[in-house]
Amino acid sequence: MKQTEYIGSNSISKLPSILKQTATERLLVVTGKKSYISSGAQEKLEPYLNGCKIVRFSDFNPNPKIEDIQKALKTLKQAKWDAVIAVGGGSVIDTAKLINFFRENDIEPTDYIKTKRAAYKKPKPLVAIPTTAGSGSEATSFAVLYVGKQKYSIEHETLLPEVAIVDPTLTYSVPKYITACTAMDALSQAIESYWCVSSNNESKTYSRHSIGLILSNIENAVNQPDESTRQAMSNAAHLAGKAINITKTTAPHAISYPLTSFFQIAHGHAVALTLPLFLEYNANVTDQDVLDVRGSEYVRKTINEIVVFVGGEGIDDAKQRIRHLTSKIGLETRLSRLGVKSKEDIETIVANGFNPGRIKNNPRLLTEDILRDMLCNLR
Ligand code: NAD
Repeated sequence: MKQTEYIGSNSISKLPSILKQTATERLLVVTGKKSYISSGAQEKLEPYLNGCKIVRFSDFNPNPKIEDIQKALKTLKQAKWDAVIAVGGGSVIDTAKLINFFRENDIEPTDYIKTKRAAYKKPKPLVAIPTTAGSGSEATSFAVLYVGKQKYSIEHETLLPEVAIVDPTLTYSVPKYITACTAMDALSQAIESYWCVSSNNESKTYSRHSIGLILSNIENAVNQPDESTRQAMSNAAHLAGKAINITKTTAPHAISYPLTSFFQIAHGHAVALTLPLFLEYNANVTDQDVLDVRGSEYVRKTINEIVVFVGGEGIDDAKQRIRHLTSKIGLETRLSRLGVKSKEDIETIVANGFNPGRIKNNPRLLTEDILRDMLCNLR
């Protein structure tokens, strides 16, 4: 599926012509409760919606849970829409994707996870307008869904939004901690995609570009943001989204899931914690534990390229640079200070961190014992 993109300051002003082109009369508008107002999206967008019949949905919390989607499908049972507009962070965009997909296909989310049918109907066109610079969800054909403490990635080609409007002015209001978390999510996506077993030339080009933009702008975007750094981070997050849409993510994302579910660590912060460890771990790949069919030498070369992108003089230096960067933007790097204290806590992460899709994407085989050691050293 192809996507139309509008990128840059005030690109939100393209919305009226998009709605006109698609002859949209009835809209489902999915937004955050507070971020729709604080981002300035409400003020900018509402005048463009005059003349459309609108159904709104904003009754959910960050990180969509199955109960949120079930509630939405029930609340919106009688509602009809020709297109969907999602305005918010990754949580809002994922919620809109899930509502639109499950409504069109009349299937319970849990049934989809258990038994994937062969064919699905294309949901209504979705216009995704991110208000954070991080998740890249506007550029991907998947959506994250929590069932209890378990995190699932619902994947289908028709989940890719038809239109992405990446307007950095909507991210100006993002507070410091969320800017830091979302930026580290994007950086991790881009790096993981670069070393992923399913990378290709196209995904690596997106990743390379994204990593460069993030490393040149992240500190200022967090500590003294201005128009240019916000613009760069929005572009970078979108590129990282395009990269993972081809490759998906790897071990740091898999390990982040229980860190978020069980210890309430924000998604991007959780991902950033193990990123430097996996840079070192993957660099030491051997012929015996390589998972990339291109071989261990190819993986080592790839990791060395990442070391150069990061400005490191070697693996250890690159690892320290990522860790310092994480601290400089105000994110705690020790697990014990984030609530992961006991041996039992570590076991919880090990037991729930082996998302099969993500772990087999990592270029080097990971075992529970190795992960346990890594996490103990990070305490
Ligand atoms: P988020 O959407 O969870 O939002 C984080 C917080 O930022 C919320 O409190 C929100 O209200 C606030 N916020 C959003 N925009 C704001 C603004 N402009 N001003 C002030 N506050 C604002 O955070 P996120 O990092 O964008 O998304 C994370 C979610 O996306 C997670 O659930 C993650 O699993 C998912 N995700 C999805 C994909 C995908 O491809 N589908 C990729 C990565 C992450």
